[in-house]
Amino acid sequence: MPTRVIMGTDCVRKNADVFGIGKKALIVTGAHSAKTNGALDDVLYSLEKRNAQYAVFDKVMSNPTIDCVYEGAEAAMEEEADFIVAIGGGSPMDAAKAIALLAVNDIDKKDLLTSDIGSRALPMIHIPTTAGTGSEVTPYSILTNHEKKTKASIGAPCLFPSYALLDAKYMDNLSMRTTVNTAIDSLSHSVEGMMSARANIMADVIAREAIRIISGMLDKLTGGFLTRADREKLLYASMLGGTVISQTKTTAVHSMGYSLTYFHGIDHGRANGLLLGEFTEYTEKYAPEKVCDILKCMNMGSVGEFKEKLSEILGEKEKFVPEELEMYADIAAAAGGTRNSFHCPERDEILEIYKKSLL
Ligand code: NAP
Ligand code: FE
Repeated sequence: MPTRVIMGTDCVRKNADVFGIGKKALIVTGAHSAKTNGALDDVLYSLEKRNAQYAVFDKVMSNPTIDCVYEGAEAAMEEEADFIVAIGGGSPMDAAKAIALLAVNDIDKKDLLTSDIGSRALPMIHIPTTAGTGSEVTPYSILTNHEKKTKASIGAPCLFPSYALLDAKYMDNLSMRTTVNTAIDSLSHSVEGMMSARANIMADVIAREAIRIISGMLDKLTGGFLTRADREKLLYASMLGGTVISQTKTTAVHSMGYSLTYFHGIDHGRANGLLLGEFTEYTEKYAPEKVCDILKCMNMGSVGEFKEKLSEILGEKEKFVPEELEMYADIAAAAGGTRNSFHCPERDEILEIYKKSLL
């Protein structure tokens, strides 16, 4: 994992040297949060200290679209930016990676999700302001693909950020809803990493550590109050989860969750959480030792206990009708993430997992 990670209070200001990786930055962020949580001010301080120029692209929406990243790349080229600073949750961080790629490669919109994306991108500094996606240490950019009515990823080693700067103070005023949903996303990354076809000894070591940390926080997450120290733990575990999936990729849980986000607008982490329990139970049939390992990290005795805990955290479920689940099963059966599961579910098994999880 080639990204250099620096963590701690005020690490953006204390490591202004990092911002010397180029002459002009395009800051890629969402519409609001970076301007009020202190992250943008800290970045501007460090850029000015290094005499670096900058422009701001603050049009990234949640679940960024292909049009959005092409617009961002246009801005990067117009501004002649030679590096990218991403500030925000997974959405701005993922958009920043695609922008870094498109600013230096001529890739047609229709080919972005299907062709080889090459090995060149602008260097990037990522500053996560949610503790969930781990995108700051992964080589993936997940984009909404309206043509196929789902989300799809691009991935290549050139999309690893050069630096990830982790400061939990930016999350002081993050809503509990986003805090919970993003924490569940990072739990899902590490649990899925252990249930992935690419699971390996090194990734498992990191995944176990992340699962222990996040599961130790589940009661606080339902309790609704977190200290700065708690948020630091979640941010650290989220970064660990990113290092796990940078090796193992995600599985059927993420592939199945994308339809819940695309068609129901359900937050990414919550979508995974709604499916994670049933998929863990499915995997237990084929890899009981793996699931036992995961449960042990959470101090839980059965998948039933895990499912109950997830239900308690996620609260009342959204309403679904059986017909739509048929379509979601078709989409997930064709997704690469599904095939990356340690035991890959067939289309009808996917439908069954959807039904058990959602109806
Ligand atoms: P997000 O879509 O980035 O952000 C959700 C909301 O939280 C936005 O409204 C954002 O506001 C707000 N927000 C962010 N930081 C905040 C803060 N510190 N204080 C207050 N509000 C804040 O959500 P996310 O769950 O972090 O990211 C989800 C995306 O990541 C999905 O597209 C998912 O597919 C992707 N993902 C990527 C990877 C990967 O490896 N690349 C892995 C998992 C998930 P603003 O818009 O104003 O900033
Ligand atoms: Fe995720």
